[in-house]
Amino acid sequence: MAGSPIERTADVVVVGAGLAGLTAARALRRAGADVVVLEARERVGGRVLNHDIGDGKVVEVGGQWVGPTQERALALIAELGLETFDTHDAGRNLFEHRGRLSSYAGAIPRVSPPALVDTQIAIARLTWMARSVDPAQPWAARRARAWDAETVASWSRRHMRTRLGRDLMQLVCEAVWAADPADVSLLHFLAYAKAAGSMDALISTDGGAQQSRVVGGSQRIALALADELGEAVALGRPVRRIAHGHDGVTVDADGVRVRARRTVVAISPALAGRLVYDPPLPADRDQLTQRTPNGSVIKCMAIYDAPFWREAGLSGQVTSDVGPVKVTFDNSPPDGSPGVLLGFLEGAAARALGRVPAAERRAAVVGCFARFFGPAAASPRDYVDKDWSSEEFTRGCYGAFLPPNTWTAFGPALRAPVGPLHWAGAETATRWTGYMDGAIRSGEDAAAAVLARL
Ligand SMILES: Cc1cc2nc3c(=O)[nH]c(=O)nc-3n(C[C@H](O)[C@H](O)[C@H](O)COP(=O)(O)OP(=O)(O)OC[C@H]3O[C@@H](n4cnc5c(N)ncnc54)[C@H](O)[C@@H]3O)c2cc1C
Repeated sequence: MAGSPIERTADVVVVGAGLAGLTAARALRRAGADVVVLEARERVGGRVLNHDIGDGKVVEVGGQWVGPTQERALALIAELGLETFDTHDAGRNLFEHRGRLSSYAGAIPRVSPPALVDTQIAIARLTWMARSVDPAQPWAARRARAWDAETVASWSRRHMRTRLGRDLMQLVCEAVWAADPADVSLLHFLAYAKAAGSMDALISTDGGAQQSRVVGGSQRIALALADELGEAVALGRPVRRIAHGHDGVTVDADGVRVRARRTVVAISPALAGRLVYDPPLPADRDQLTQRTPNGSVIKCMAIYDAPFWREAGLSGQVTSDVGPVKVTFDNSPPDGSPGVLLGFLEGAAARALGRVPAAERRAAVVGCFARFFGPAAASPRDYVDKDWSSEEFTRGCYGAFLPPNTWTAFGPALRAPVGPLHWAGAETATRWTGYMDGAIRSGEDAAAAVLARL
């Protein structure tokens, strides 16, 4: 029989030691608050995770890139003494459409003029629409109800004239949310793009969200934060229940009970909805957590002695509508050794290949790499992948997306505190929602809100 839980007290208890929880805890501690962080896993970082590939080199199986305007992530990286390096972007990119592979230089694949015009008009239209959406309150946009009643797929069907244009929109949706355009609210699409600055910023490498990587892997950010917090971070302590009232909170995790004045719940809304609250949360908040699904993604990497595609003048970046791997990158370490090809399985492809044995998934992924880069890609010396949907304490990635009629019906409940309960996590950010930068901002914002009330 399990013994009595360890009892602790604190000013604030933070649930989750991902980037959001750790930054919240750090800001609170620096302001003089006594903080405890309860983390379910035996490690910190959550959706950021390094994977050792030998010789002191790592790849990241979770979040990795940072880019311009992600000021909070870039500032934190610098503050922690970490460095960034540019994503390998030199050479020609590949575009596979309906089985035909072509190469192109620059950001835009060589597609037929009608498809190009169609896509550019759609982007211009969406950019114009996004101007009236405030990511802090998308439900307040003048056309919010109409846009929230529409999916990205239904909008594309009505407003895009070419099949190729719609196929590209499908690829954007899968790449950004690991979800199908038919799943995602158009209002969510607009709010998310606005939070990143533009659609371009979301999908670009040079000048966009995929521009840079952290030397030694992005998990070093979380590890450095946890180092600073020391014994305030308790690993292997999944939180199960939060009792809350005027006098504070009692948070029960496996083997430990923490009484505190406030709590920051720094996990995705879907996970937050799985905790037991006493008393139960207001219906709006509870129903919101029933409507914030996480996407489906498997991040896959094949490791070669050298990045041989570079010698062929290729960047390693592919966009394909054939799949199952539809997006690839050169993910080699800064010195280009070993060569690493990264491929994403997203949405339906992730679900289909998440069901098959690992060897079958590896064969399908490496088969795509060989189709794109030739026979040399068929025999990697190593292979690693991570299916985030099957992780108990993540349950899908890159993060949550909002389906139709969620922002307008339940939006305010995403961020509003409930008594002493505060919500953080990449999903709650109003700038770079869904990204590491957003997670960091959300932690800082939650800490400021808690401090204002302590
Ligand atoms: C494959 C992949 C690629 C990505 N690529 C990028 C990228 O290139 N750039 C980018 O900026 N972002 C990227 N992201 C997104 C980015 O990683 C996340 O937005 C960010 O790390 C989320 O941080 P968070 O703290 O909000 O949540 P999380 O990292 O999910 O942290 C939540 C923490 O809470 C813990 N937890 C869960 N339940 C409980 C519980 N009951 N009790 C206690 N603890 C609990 C979890 O174990 C976890 O440690 C990617 C994500 C994935 C998965």
